[in-house]
Amino acid sequence: MRRSYANALSNRANICIFETVHLLRQRIVTTPPLFRSSTGCLVPKTSKFIFITGGVLSSLGKGIASSSIGLLLRQRGFSVTVQKLDPYINVDPGTMNPLQHGEVFVTDDGAEADLDLGHYERYLDVSMSRQNTSTAGQVYFDVITRERQGGYLGKTVQVVPHITDEIKKRMRAFDGKFDVIIIEIGGTVGDIESLPFLEACRQLRHEVGRGNALDIHLTYVPYIKSAGELKTKPTQHSVKTLMEFGITPDLLLCRAEVSLDREIRAKIALFCNVEERSVIEAIDAQTIYEVPMMFAKHKLDEIVCEKLNLKKSKLNLDTWSRFVHRIKSPKHEITIGLVGKYNKNPDSYKSITEAFIHAGAINNTRVNLRWIDSEEITKDTVKTLLADIDGILVAPGFGSRGIEGKILAIEHVRKNLIPFFGICLGMQCAVIEFARNVAGMPLANSTEFKKNKFNVIDLMPEQRKVTEKGGTMRLGAYPCHLEKKSRAFAAYKSEHISERHRHRYEFNNDFTEQLTSKGLKISGTSPDGRLVEVIELPNHPWFVGVQFHPELKSRAVTGHPLFVAFIKASLANALEKL
Ligand code: GLN
Repeated sequence: MRRSYANALSNRANICIFETVHLLRQRIVTTPPLFRSSTGCLVPKTSKFIFITGGVLSSLGKGIASSSIGLLLRQRGFSVTVQKLDPYINVDPGTMNPLQHGEVFVTDDGAEADLDLGHYERYLDVSMSRQNTSTAGQVYFDVITRERQGGYLGKTVQVVPHITDEIKKRMRAFDGKFDVIIIEIGGTVGDIESLPFLEACRQLRHEVGRGNALDIHLTYVPYIKSAGELKTKPTQHSVKTLMEFGITPDLLLCRAEVSLDREIRAKIALFCNVEERSVIEAIDAQTIYEVPMMFAKHKLDEIVCEKLNLKKSKLNLDTWSRFVHRIKSPKHEITIGLVGKYNKNPDSYKSITEAFIHAGAINNTRVNLRWIDSEEITKDTVKTLLADIDGILVAPGFGSRGIEGKILAIEHVRKNLIPFFGICLGMQCAVIEFARNVAGMPLANSTEFKKNKFNVIDLMPEQRKVTEKGGTMRLGAYPCHLEKKSRAFAAYKSEHISERHRHRYEFNNDFTEQLTSKGLKISGTSPDGRLVEVIELPNHPWFVGVQFHPELKSRAVTGHPLFVAFIKASLANALEKL
């Protein structure tokens, strides 16, 4: 049924209104909007699909490649979105260890997602949603739930067609709503679990027809020092594996340490069945934000437009290039201490490190990060570890490990008037530090670490009932009201903001009086005043703690108001010392 619909779609120009209505009635998946074709008929508008797969090994930067291609198409005037499909069985990465999986990105609608969604948002300046992310776990969960409800009418439920149909349904979630939908498949081709996803890509491409879909494969071309040569064999094998699944890539992005000369590209082209101009090098860049410019230099966007029959308009990368120039050659330089406990995997704080790059560029400043392991901070080491630092950010996190170190670091910067930015757990630690050392409650703590009479950070009643771990925190965007006379307001220049959350514990209102009377300022709350969102110390150059995660909304070029203000204050602190 779906195939007849899809075949008709590839013949779009000839579809007349009767056929269209008939086809739409048959359709199981989301209905695309209608538009008037050149022949005057109303036809469903469908999107162009770009599938991105990766080969040879993981961590080649598929997320950056997808985002960069998306940006180039957007800068040519097309509307673009990106979806990430992850073949693992977890329903979402929310319960995974950040040391293994990296940061959990959170969307406005509260999805806990892969960190690549952060790249998509940062490059494309478009907010992602639940529909931009799927895992094998979610796909199977939905299919099995439907089966239990009797939704398959006695049929044997199988990987093909039921799992693949569910994957395709998800891939079509934005069909017709964007000019181009980029679909990034997680993992590496050849992994057992990615099979149904590759099969779904193959089928969807067949359904929408050539000219409406494109396969891009990101591969690795290692440079063997002893031979002084780039080696193409891993790429040949990877493409061969892809072909076994019925996918012939149209374009190869070759990650390499050094430039690919004509001979190498011709060799890859010949053995992988790809045009020579479509073998595009992706060599290591000084900053990830330079990648779109490198791709544009090799005309990647032009080739994509041509192969997808997208009418080209001029590519405009002026603002983007200025942003990259500021990242590469800024006027000033500062050092920020990032106090956290997942320092062994810098991806755990991906959005924070990117937000610093954005805010640095806006302040014309290179932000050097000093990673400080909170477990190493003691009364004896705090001074040395924080020496010559221009500002500190205390990171989000879970569990009691490293908490005392974070509190000691906060005490140090509060007393020494060094700019402080606390995010989520970082803000909670700032409240505990203030309660202990200023408001005379030496036993102050969070219920998360030690339950006692001085839990200045505590669980809200709705969280007390929660028993399951996955997807049960306070998640996603919530409105916040800012007090006008505050640093937060000065940064946002607005009283009404919305920021994303991912936590269980909150500021305990039972202690509001005791803490504010001693000088802690509550400058942001939920609109009903019930939940504390921002705390500050007015008698300090810049001391701000936020219960939400501002880093998740920092975008390339425009940055985030709080990060920009924090870097500005830290730069002022650095310049004063000169
Ligand atoms: N562990 C804290 C909580 O659950 C903070 C979470 C975070 O930093 N995201 O409230």
